[in-house]
Amino acid sequence: MQPDPPALPFPRLFAPLDLGFIRLPNRLVMGSMHTRLESEADGARRLAAFYAERARGGAGLIITGGVAPNRDGLLEDDADVLDDSARGAFHRTVTDAVHAEGGRICLQILHAGRYARIAAPVGASDIPSPINRRAIRALADGEVAQTVEDFARCAELARAAGYDGVEIMGSEGYLVTQFTCPRTNNRADRWGGSLENRLRFPLEIVRRTRARAGRDFLLVFRISALDLVDDGATAADTTVLARALAEAGVDILDTGIGWHEARVPTIAYGVPRAAWAFAAKRIKDAVDIPVIATNRINTPERAEALIASGVADLVSLARPFLADAAFPAKARTGRSAAINTCIACNQACLDYLFSNRTVTCLVNPRACRETELPTGPAARSKRVAVVGAGAAGLACAVTAAERGHRVTLFEAAHRIGGQLNLASVIPGKEFAETLRYFETRIAETAVELRLGSPADATALAAAGFDEVVIATGVRPRVPELRGVDHPKVARYDEILSGTRVAGASVAIIGAGGIGFDVAAYLSAPAAAAETAHFLAAWGVDTSGASRGGLAPPTPEQTERRITMFQRKSTPPGRTLGVTTGWALKAELARRGVRILAGVQYQRIDDAGLHYTHEGEVHVLPCDTVVLCAGQLAARELYDELCALGVRPHLIGGADRAEELDALRAFDQGTRLAHAF
Ligand code: NAP
Ligand code: SF4
Repeated sequence: MQPDPPALPFPRLFAPLDLGFIRLPNRLVMGSMHTRLESEADGARRLAAFYAERARGGAGLIITGGVAPNRDGLLEDDADVLDDSARGAFHRTVTDAVHAEGGRICLQILHAGRYARIAAPVGASDIPSPINRRAIRALADGEVAQTVEDFARCAELARAAGYDGVEIMGSEGYLVTQFTCPRTNNRADRWGGSLENRLRFPLEIVRRTRARAGRDFLLVFRISALDLVDDGATAADTTVLARALAEAGVDILDTGIGWHEARVPTIAYGVPRAAWAFAAKRIKDAVDIPVIATNRINTPERAEALIASGVADLVSLARPFLADAAFPAKARTGRSAAINTCIACNQACLDYLFSNRTVTCLVNPRACRETELPTGPAARSKRVAVVGAGAAGLACAVTAAERGHRVTLFEAAHRIGGQLNLASVIPGKEFAETLRYFETRIAETAVELRLGSPADATALAAAGFDEVVIATGVRPRVPELRGVDHPKVARYDEILSGTRVAGASVAIIGAGGIGFDVAAYLSAPAAAAETAHFLAAWGVDTSGASRGGLAPPTPEQTERRITMFQRKSTPPGRTLGVTTGWALKAELARRGVRILAGVQYQRIDDAGLHYTHEGEVHVLPCDTVVLCAGQLAARELYDELCALGVRPHLIGGADRAEELDALRAFDQGTRLAHAF
């Protein structure tokens, strides 16, 4: 008898979805992300390469970054607009590339409304946005009707450019939501006032789009499942809209969580995985058309569970497709351990976007650089030695091996990871997934890993490697300070590795990235990682009764009194990520963590930490003083090799300790391996 074929991993995720005129091969949607590639000189080719790689990796459906239907809707001056056929060739390059890989792609139509960073933004009303200081001009009645036409015309042009459909962006606080919510709509005409009037704008867009683009054109609508702002929609309003959209001709309802001005984090690393499932489920229960769940879904296991438990019919992953273009292919073939997981750090995607840089990914520096760092073997296979299996060394070793080099990776410790092992214990930071990925790829690419092997300069020099890479990292800086050798003083690596345990009252010397991380680690309540705790602490109402889904935050019980110190008088936390730092600072403030800037340290003794602040001498009684005062490069091996006449490469913290950063380390390691 023939043995049964092995069960398909993730059967629900890889069940096709047949809509009659289009068949999606699986339930994994690559969600819309603005990359800024369209503004680059070679934008069409780069964007095409970016999406084609994700289509090849098995995305069931790709949704592009937002494209404006008219010039008023531009997010910023150099954003993309599709309002006449002149731009068709640009988009045709993208759609042809995706279709050549067997993929399907929808254009997202996004009108920024009052979020537009352009000279004269428009909105449903003239109510300004707290995150955009520009004055807003309310659209006149005729202009609203014209905007509806512009959405429909944009969809028609998208069809002509080869797209399989469009997604109407109706969430996150952009123009459509500005019409549907009383927060931003105080109109007295047919587009404002009653719920029926406020919903007229999205429903007219859908009806006109359906009429202009045809029945056999995929029409996805991204509905705001939860606004997370005062005077947002209630669950009842949202249900009415969802049903009306389905009736008006929407094929699939995508879900969005939180307006951009919301003061609740929605996708940052502190948000538990799939924390917003309850909001997607409400939409799913209201309609008979397929629904997409979104936000903080970064593993196939979680995605499968969401579909299996009836939360949604499909899942949208946006950043996870930056981190790994082949996420679906790996999951489908039982290789989920080889997925490079998005760790929700936002450091190279959203933070880059908000600082006007083209997006990439911390754990995958090739993202949006596909044409610059192509895959494929190197011209000649070399023998490469990499010393140090931290972020820089791992990226370099695995990338070099992927390009066909024979790599030996030396690591003095008995496990890979270096500083990433410390970072992985910080609440919400998912570097353990990154290390699992590298462990898998080291095995798959046959990197020879020598753990517990401090490299010896003479032996390395004699071994005849073609390339020697030094990625020996850093050691924590111990500042020169009276009493720094007192028993109550601990380094951050001792605390995070569990070698030392902090007492009930703690002083943290240094308020950089690691100081903040240590404060988060030491102040986190036991239940901090649980979704219920997160939602309660941030004041999210899951009942659906309140406008915007907000409730009074529940106070967090913390066991330690923590004070952070910094000598500079500039506001602490300036080096934290633009899109995550505010949430971390709010969280620490909620837990009573104090931060003092502009101090001079005097000494540490049995009484505690003595310091001067604003000309006065103080003593902070404390059980533990944690040193988070930066790092020094561990560069001895490099110097020894240079003395022996070897010309090694120097990367990561060993290269520039003062700018030690996983983002720079991964990028530097990857780029060096591409240069071999
Ligand atoms: P850092 O950000 O440079 O902060 C070092 C801190 O130590 C500063 O607050 C500095 O402030 C203080 N300091 C420096 N020399 C000192 C001395 N001799 N005595 C007393 N205090 C001293 O370094 P880090 O916190 O170690 O972080 C390292 C890198 O990792 C940074 O690039 C950081 O951005 C990155 N990182 C990022 C994140 C993130 O979430 N994005 C998280 C962790 C780490 P004063 O000199 O004013 O006292
Ligand atoms: Fe995810 Fe961070 Fe990469 Fe953004 S930069 S895609 S959040 S891992």
